[in-house]
Amino acid sequence: MTTPDPSRATRNAGPAGEGLLRGGPAGAAELGEQVRAAVAEMARWMSEYGEYTPHPSLDVEVGALRRATEDLRARLRENYPFFHPRYVGQMLKPPHPAAVVGYVTTMLINPNNHALDGGPATARMEKEVVAQLATMFGFGPHLGHLTSSGTIANLEALFVARETHPGRAVAYSADAHYTHSRMCHLLGVRGMAVPVTAEGTMDLHALEELLRAGGIGTVVATAGTTGLGTIDPVHEIVALCRRYEARVHVDAAYGGFFRLIADDSPDGVAAAPFAAIAECDSVVIDPHKHGLQPYGCGAVLFNDPGVARHFLHDSPYTYFTSDELHLGEISLECSRAGAAAAALWLTLRLLPLTPGGLGAALRPGRRAALAWADRIEASERLTLYQRPQLDILGYYPTRDRLSEIDEASAHVLTRGMRLPPARSLFVATYTVDAAGLAARGHRVRADVPRGRILRSVLMKPETEQYVPWLHQQVLDLLADGD
Ligand SMILES: *Cc1c(COP(=O)(O)O)cnc(C)c1O
Repeated sequence: MTTPDPSRATRNAGPAGEGLLRGGPAGAAELGEQVRAAVAEMARWMSEYGEYTPHPSLDVEVGALRRATEDLRARLRENYPFFHPRYVGQMLKPPHPAAVVGYVTTMLINPNNHALDGGPATARMEKEVVAQLATMFGFGPHLGHLTSSGTIANLEALFVARETHPGRAVAYSADAHYTHSRMCHLLGVRGMAVPVTAEGTMDLHALEELLRAGGIGTVVATAGTTGLGTIDPVHEIVALCRRYEARVHVDAAYGGFFRLIADDSPDGVAAAPFAAIAECDSVVIDPHKHGLQPYGCGAVLFNDPGVARHFLHDSPYTYFTSDELHLGEISLECSRAGAAAAALWLTLRLLPLTPGGLGAALRPGRRAALAWADRIEASERLTLYQRPQLDILGYYPTRDRLSEIDEASAHVLTRGMRLPPARSLFVATYTVDAAGLAARGHRVRADVPRGRILRSVLMKPETEQYVPWLHQQVLDLLADGD
């Protein structure tokens, strides 16, 4: 089977004349031009301050640099092709080239968003992009900032949970990201795992029992689990928590940007859980996952600007030029890359947080997940673990015993990535247990307690065109026994 022709990919038509900045090898020349122009422009700005002689201790020979970067490029070949549609493994893809231009341009100055004085321009950009995220979620006046990751963003949310409800526990679903139990441990807060339903979402009856028993200060709802992209019923969790006076934090590190296509349409996602985020106390979103950013870009937002009081501290040396609240005064992290804020700011100028902006880059992956799920359901050789709620698929080679499923899944994983690059396939695996299979009605003999199934994250819009090829490639790999 031949692979689809990427030039057939539909795209947003821009105003004619200046061409397109595209991702991947197709856009390499234009990206090179953009970076070259950025370096030249920044040098012009720097020279306004007068010429100076760089210290010779920092000089490197261009020949030596060339040899070292040759080595670097050789080393970087030890990577999987995260950029390519044939990579449907983990949550990984390169940033948008606009984000690269924004990051590189700003990195030449290297502002630090710890304080306004560390980079006034990028601190303002950070406030602007956080306001855009707040608008997307339906927050009014808010407090928020970028973080270096979703982990740190969740840590801050749970820190505020502890400060506002001291002595009370934090509840999260058994399928929530492991960071929640780890961060509770770090914060000295009791963390409690709520059992999940057959679909892997938080069990509301179990949650209500827990709330009724008392002692829960904050409930963490996950809008898109890291494993299979399942969405906790945020709207129902909010209603329950109001009744029992518990706060709600939403971990939307992976799924948050799906808010843009949460419209119940055939190629959208469920509206109600995402709409309810507006009423929650805090939310975390990772622009370095579905926001097209390089790593080092998470975000936390609080619905009540008053929680700033939990972050306040005195610094004798950082804040000197304004009375405005500095980002470093509302964040647990100190130094943070101003370039990360600039990259996101520039990206959102071009692909705004609207259904027709970034939303249009999310729908194809959602359609790909639905289309591939349909193919798997129609196939006798593959079985769908559960229907996808976002763009992540769990499926397995149809076998009688869990040990056989594990073996066949591992075969697809390792064989696929060892094929020559132009025919290779990269998937991931996901460990399930007998209870999870039985809850979903799978009649599999659990001859081992746990086993791997196949998992594919379809987070690149190009994947949609590759679905028939991907499906066939998995079948071919299974047919080609060992
Ligand atoms: C990725 C993820 C995290 C952790 O975020 P990092 O950016 O990897 O630190 C937390 N929660 C969920 C739901 C995630 O998907």
